[in-house]
Amino acid sequence: MQLDRLKTAAGLDLKGKRVLVRADLNVPAKSGKVTDATRLERIVPGLEDLAERGARIIVVSHFGRPKGGPDPQYSLKPVAEKLGELLGKSIAFAPDCIGEPAAKVVSSLKDGTIAVLENLRFHAGEEKNDPDFAKELAKHGDIFVGDAFSTAHRAHASTDAITRLLPSYAGPLLMEEVDALRSVVDRPVRPTAAVIGGAKVSTKIPVLTNLAGKVDKLIIGGGMANTFFLAQGVNVGRSLAEPDFAKTALEIMHAAKEQSCEVVLPADVVVAAKFEAGAPSRVVPVLQTPADEMILDVGPKAVAHYTDVIGRCKTLLWNGPLGAFEIAPFGEGTFALARAAAELTKAGKLISVAGGGDTVAALNAAGVTDQFSYVSTAGGAFLEWLEGRELPGIVALTRAA
Ligand code: AMP
Repeated sequence: MQLDRLKTAAGLDLKGKRVLVRADLNVPAKSGKVTDATRLERIVPGLEDLAERGARIIVVSHFGRPKGGPDPQYSLKPVAEKLGELLGKSIAFAPDCIGEPAAKVVSSLKDGTIAVLENLRFHAGEEKNDPDFAKELAKHGDIFVGDAFSTAHRAHASTDAITRLLPSYAGPLLMEEVDALRSVVDRPVRPTAAVIGGAKVSTKIPVLTNLAGKVDKLIIGGGMANTFFLAQGVNVGRSLAEPDFAKTALEIMHAAKEQSCEVVLPADVVVAAKFEAGAPSRVVPVLQTPADEMILDVGPKAVAHYTDVIGRCKTLLWNGPLGAFEIAPFGEGTFALARAAAELTKAGKLISVAGGGDTVAALNAAGVTDQFSYVSTAGGAFLEWLEGRELPGIVALTRAA
C-alpha cells in the first residue's frame, strides 16, 4: 500500500461543501440503546472540525448484519440520536441512505450541520461493491471522507466504489489508525516486541508468520502457546490445543529463528481442573502440567520474563489475551503484563499499540486502555494489517489521491 499517498481534507475550503463521511457507527447496542459509545466518542472531534469549517456533513455507516434489506432492529436512528447527544446538538436523520428520503434531508442541511443516513446494508449493493449503488450515494456529496478504518478490510460500495466517483480523502480517525500501525509494524523504533495471545494458532497463522519476519521478540501466550508446547513434545494435559497445527507452530518457530526473531513462551502456567470462575487453581512449571488439568493463564515467572523482554524493547504490539481473562482468576497474567506495558509507556520508554476486540476488553478490565500509546477498536482490519495484507478501503483512498 502506498500509504504516503493518503491525503486528508485538512486545509481544504469546505464552507458550504457537502462532505460525505464514511464512519463506523457499528456500536454495541441492545433493545435500541447504545451500550458502548466509545466509537461514537472518537468520531466527535472530526465531525466538530468539519462543522466549524462550515461543511454540510452527511454521515453514512453500516450497523450490524441485516440481510441486504431494511430491518428495524438494525436501524441507525438510535445511534444517530446518541451521536447528537455527544455532539451536543440535534442532527438530522434520513430513513434511507439513497433516493428521495436521503436527498430531502441532505438538501435541507445548512453550513455546519450534520445528517446521519440509514444503514448502508439495507441495500445489497453496499456489500456487493455495486457501482450503481455507489453512484446513488455519491449524489449526496461534493467530496468523500473515508474514516472507517475498521471496515477498510472490505471492498464495499462505501469504502471502495465511492472513491472512483468523488474526490476522496482519508479521515482523521483512519489516519490515526494507519499512523499507529505503521509506527509498530512497518517502521518501528527497534527493538520491537509483539505479544500474541488468544485461543488458537489456527486463526492467527498469517499474523504469526508475518510478524516473525518483522519483530525482534515474539511473545506467545494464551491457548495458542499450548500448541507450540505440543509441537515440542511437551504434555499440556487437557488444555485447549490444536494438535493438527503443531507442525505449523514448529514452522513458525523455525522461520522466526532464521529471521533472528526470538520466540518467547511461558515458563510457568496457571492450571485448573475446571474451566469456571473461582475454580481452584495453582501455578506449575509448564513441564509439570498435570495430565488431567488445563492451562488457563500464564504464571508469575512468565509475566516477569515477558516484562523484562518488553522492558528491553522500544516498541510493543499486542493482540490477544495471555489467558482466559474473562473468568477470574485467569486474567491475572494478562492484567499484570498490561499494567507493566502501561507503566513503561507512561515513563516514555515504550511505544505501545494494542488492538482487537478481546484485547481491548482485557485492557479495559486491567484499567490501562488510556495509558497505551494507541488502542485500536478495529478487529478484522487490525488483524489483516498484522498479516501484512493490503486493505481495499485504504488502497482505494491512496488510488484516489
Ligand atoms: P482470540 O479471539 O483468538 O484473541 O482469543 C481470545 C479468547 O481466548 C478469549 O476468550 C480467552 O478466554 C481465550 N483464551 C486465552 N487463553 C486461553 C487458554 N489458555 N485456554 C482457553 N481459552 C483461552
